[in-house]
Amino acid sequence: MFHLIAGTVAHLLEMRSRARDGAIESYDQLLALAVRKVDEVAPLNVSKAAHEKADELRLGDLRTYCWNCTGSYRDGSPKPKRLFVWEHHKRAADIRNEVVALPKPTVEQIAAILATTRIAWILRNEDDRLGPGRKPRPDPARAYRDADIALLYRWEECRPVNCTRHRRG
Ligand SMILES: [Zn+2]
Repeated sequence: MFHLIAGTVAHLLEMRSRARDGAIESYDQLLALAVRKVDEVAPLNVSKAAHEKADELRLGDLRTYCWNCTGSYRDGSPKPKRLFVWEHHKRAADIRNEVVALPKPTVEQIAAILATTRIAWILRNEDDRLGPGRKPRPDPARAYRDADIALLYRWEECRPVNCTRHRRG
């Protein structure tokens, strides 16, 4: 799957390299979209605080909620979107920048960068502590420590989101 998306990214990079100045921004937007497709296959973690909140609300395991689930919880109860954030532990923009910075990008190299994508469900107030998402985050683990966000699982044991409500296709 990383290779499939990497192939698309390689194609976009090729077109971007031949684009006129004005068009480069459009290619950057397309690249950002392609990079977001990786969300479906990247390891998903949960912060301890988010897990406790989900428990309290009887939402069950947050790893069964995809990004599309965030606004659509049943009526009458707090919407997960207000409480939880689908957070890119390593920022999508940082991944895109690494890909764009490759001097002679190959599908293999791009796939290797895309494979470093990590997602975590965290509380909105934890996300606030991470600060504005615009600045680069060279050391995601450190950024989480500094923001006092503890993750429930080791990344090695994390799997892609397992949402039964939204079939990916
Ligand atoms: Zn879903």
